[in-house]
Amino acid sequence: MLPFLDLKSITLQHREELLAAFEEVLDSGWYILGKKVAAFEAAFAEYVGTPYCVGVGNGLEAIRLILEAYGFPPGSEVIVPANTYIATVLAISQCGLKPVLVEPDISTYNIDPQLIERHITPRTKAILVVHLYGKCCEMQPIRALADAYGLKVIEDCAQAQGAVYHGKKTGNLSDAGAFSFYPAKNLGALGDAGAITCHDETLYQRLRALRNYGSHEKYKNLYKGYNSRLDELQAAFLLVKLKYLDEENEARRRIAQYYLSHIKAPNLVLPTASKDPLSDVWHVFVVRTANRELFQQQLKAQGIQTVIHYPIPMHHQPAYQEWATKSFPITEKIHREVISLPISPVMTEADAALVVRGIEN
Ligand SMILES: *Cc1c(COP(=O)(O)O)cnc(C)c1O
Repeated sequence: MLPFLDLKSITLQHREELLAAFEEVLDSGWYILGKKVAAFEAAFAEYVGTPYCVGVGNGLEAIRLILEAYGFPPGSEVIVPANTYIATVLAISQCGLKPVLVEPDISTYNIDPQLIERHITPRTKAILVVHLYGKCCEMQPIRALADAYGLKVIEDCAQAQGAVYHGKKTGNLSDAGAFSFYPAKNLGALGDAGAITCHDETLYQRLRALRNYGSHEKYKNLYKGYNSRLDELQAAFLLVKLKYLDEENEARRRIAQYYLSHIKAPNLVLPTASKDPLSDVWHVFVVRTANRELFQQQLKAQGIQTVIHYPIPMHHQPAYQEWATKSFPITEKIHREVISLPISPVMTEADAALVVRGIEN
């Protein structure tokens, strides 16, 4: 059986170092906002290339805290891709703001920069982009639009840790970057974890307070904040795993390249590789086919596990009844046809060859 993602093997590559990290925290007697969180924040800021990083509880809260920290008036609009994981949109709703969905480009699956401008209104405050499936968005035209209209640009980097656009990493391509370190992400913790990267010191100070009850100073509360701290243990594990992120992304690129050059199925649409190979970190390898169920069954019969990212578009989710009558044809087509092949840093070329043969059979 070839699993979609062998999380256990990925993690156990670093077993000794992770155990040592656990022991260090255990023996330190300090379990919340200690040395490991500070060290991870410094290491991750340096990795991303921003002056600041704030560790938070998870990816959803990373986005929510950024929006909260900007203090947009209630009902302000945030432009967001219609094709994303639900967390991106939930974060906007939870802040009392209005998500404005924009269709993706069918060749990148990311927000179509050409379609953004027509959705800008006097209430628009920010463009929240998502580097979906591990591919960097086309940031230059988005930044230009945001500057022309005085909007913030925020990145959801949950699926693209370490991806590079024009020489800069995700999280350093906008006003603020939100990261999830959910275990299955390219940089994954051993539980829930997240972070925010930014350039602005005032924003940084607000975020630090907001994640910790709105407090800079113990028992003095400047804002109505949250409890969304990066856990000390998770920070210790992330410090170990961060060292291997570039190497592991490179291993994913090798598998993706193998698929791209070996899969020859006329009824399968392969992903488009970016011009700069560093712009793709292949969080998932998504193909499209008109007959997804059959394709999935065929691979399963040969012991190959696949996953669908994602089966139901946001505007058809029961949670968003208000969008039930809306139509986003490109997003709907994507949700109808996509299916993700196994890809991971511990997969071998022989594993990838098995998938290729499974598709041909
Ligand atoms: C995983 C993910 C999130 C949410 O991260 P959590 O840590 O699970 O809260 C947000 N956006 C995208 C695109 C994701 O893939």
